[in-house]
Amino acid sequence: MANAAIVGGGPAGLSAALFLQKNGVDATVFDTDGTWMHKAHLFNYPGVGSQDGSAYMETLRTQVDSFGVERHQGTEVTGVDADSGFTVTTDDSDHDADYLVLATGANRDLAEDLGCEFTDEDVVDVDVDMETSVEDAYATGAMVRAEEWQAVISAGDGAAAALNILTKEKGENFHDFDTPGDADTTFGEMSEE
Ligand SMILES: Cc1cc2nc3c(=O)[nH]c(=O)nc-3n(C[C@H](O)[C@H](O)[C@H](O)COP(=O)(O)OP(=O)(O)OC[C@H]3O[C@@H](n4cnc5c(N)ncnc54)[C@H](O)[C@@H]3O)c2cc1C
Repeated sequence: MANAAIVGGGPAGLSAALFLQKNGVDATVFDTDGTWMHKAHLFNYPGVGSQDGSAYMETLRTQVDSFGVERHQGTEVTGVDADSGFTVTTDDSDHDADYLVLATGANRDLAEDLGCEFTDEDVVDVDVDMETSVEDAYATGAMVRAEEWQAVISAGDGAAAALNILTKEKGENFHDFDTPGDADTTFGEMSEE
């Protein structure tokens, strides 16, 4: 099974992790919990109604955990390297991955270290699938935009990156569609334990 390392566990990173793990690509998330969501109250995330940003993060973490995403909460990634796949470095260990998703909010340091191209606006240059100039490395959220920083956009970026990875893995355009008739509702449970 292919695997992906995801740096950052805000809406972008956990959205990518959810789509990947749910569809057969092992997702490992490293996150230092500095997400801007802890400062936000959501009125503009479609379908959510009115929700405290930290409560949203708890729900999202519960959701990805239910699908088996490996979350290294409180673990900072100090370096990323591309050489026959990717190596993600933390203070404790190195982690190898076939794909890399950068979801570190407005912090673009790791993308710069990796050698990703930047635009004239000094944001990470990506295509509509969120892939950077480094093959199989994706960038999402605020690091790819000078403005337009909203949670739903970040979550969409993460989903787009994941679907592109899944399309590469499956060899055909991949759609993550579920229908009521075949939904296993033991997954994605939204209530807190
Ligand atoms: C005051 C305020 C109010 C806001 N209100 C709203 C609102 O009402 N509605 C709305 O849609 N948006 C709002 N936002 C914006 C919203 O919070 C962001 O758009 C959203 O959090 C971006 O998600 P993201 O996943 O791209 O990045 P983030 O949520 O910032 O997540 C990035 C994560 O990466 C982690 N990270 C960074 N570097 C590393 C590393 N090297 N190793 C491991 N982890 C790392 C960080 O700790 C963080 O947890 C608000 C923001 C602020 C500041």
